[in-house]
Amino acid sequence: MQSFEWVDAESVEQAVSLLGEGSERAPVMAKAGGMDLLDLIKVGVVAPRRVVNLKTIKGLDGVRFDARQGLELGALVTLNRVSQEPEVRRRFVALAEAAGHAGTPQVRNAATIGGNLLQRPRCWYFRDDYFHQAGGDAVERVREGENQYHAIFDNQRTVMVHASTPATALVAYGASVELSGPGGKTRVVPVSDFLLPPDTKRPSDTVIAPNEVLTRVRIPAPGAGTKAAYHKQGERESYDWPICDVAVVLQMDGRVVRQAAIALGWVAPTPRRAAEAEKLLVGKKLDEELARQAAKAAVGGATPLSKNAYKVPILEAVIRRTVVAASKA
Ligand SMILES: Cc1cc2nc3c(=O)[nH]c(=O)nc-3n(C[C@H](O)[C@H](O)[C@H](O)COP(=O)(O)OP(=O)(O)OC[C@H]3O[C@@H](n4cnc5c(N)ncnc54)[C@H](O)[C@@H]3O)c2cc1C
Repeated sequence: MQSFEWVDAESVEQAVSLLGEGSERAPVMAKAGGMDLLDLIKVGVVAPRRVVNLKTIKGLDGVRFDARQGLELGALVTLNRVSQEPEVRRRFVALAEAAGHAGTPQVRNAATIGGNLLQRPRCWYFRDDYFHQAGGDAVERVREGENQYHAIFDNQRTVMVHASTPATALVAYGASVELSGPGGKTRVVPVSDFLLPPDTKRPSDTVIAPNEVLTRVRIPAPGAGTKAAYHKQGERESYDWPICDVAVVLQMDGRVVRQAAIALGWVAPTPRRAAEAEKLLVGKKLDEELARQAAKAAVGGATPLSKNAYKVPILEAVIRRTVVAASKA
């Protein structure tokens, strides 16, 4: 591991300016909880010359809810807090559940919602020092190799899946992120556009620029009759990365679905909206049979790889159960 300079940032402006001094050969990288960054440094995927500690910036760890504006989470709010904050549990239960099921209690106490969205893929070919140094194309090695946990949709160009599980819920809720850059400029990007299909040749799997800081995550206020549920399916109940995760947000009028958002994580390069299933639900009375039809429609276009066809029936079952759970929430 190469040594690096450490700077405790005092403000977003200072962090932006320090990050802007980096280059491709001598990167300067932000650190929030450090859970992913330090992993990547240890396995040699990144070698920053300077690490900018964002945790010393005040004012980025707030949680605010307003009935008109919705929810605003500072980028440094920990996953543990997202999972336990009463306003999040009451109004955005799918996000609270997603945050509460990511990693272990130790991970959730350190990991931040901003850093979580910016983590790199968990693909073992990408992360493994041996394979990383072997050079060549990690994507091709996965296609022919151990692809049990990789994408079953949209996997022509990349087979890696985005690692963040809270992102699945954020996509279903129509959340956005605020990015702050040079000159005090900010831009707001929907999470669905923020996340890019993982690419080992890029420094980030998001649209963030090297000299931007993710400052806030925002979710619009839920409409009347909003119901939601989330389920992360792993190989075991204790901490694990998912086989797939599903977030469902429904706007209901009695038993009838007025609007539906179904987001599927860990099955495509970025969280995938199950558009066919959503269309099938809208305007109809929701029962077990309709949920079954929607789940079937959602997995219709799957193109599994050599070792991950097993994900398709699991995903179908998880969608069906999560739709039913949301309707009863
Ligand atoms: C055993 C284990 C199990 C896990 N299971 C899950 C899981 O089920 N689901 C899941 O989603 N995650 C899981 N994780 C991953 C963990 O949640 C992430 O590593 C963590 O959320 C990253 O957040 P962080 O604050 O530590 O980010 P950091 O490691 O500090 O940063 C991550 C990246 O984002 C950049 N960055 C961080 N914050 C900002 C910012 N505000 N602005 C600009 N750039 C920034 C950094 O430069 C770095 O590139 C698991 C981890 C472990 C160790």
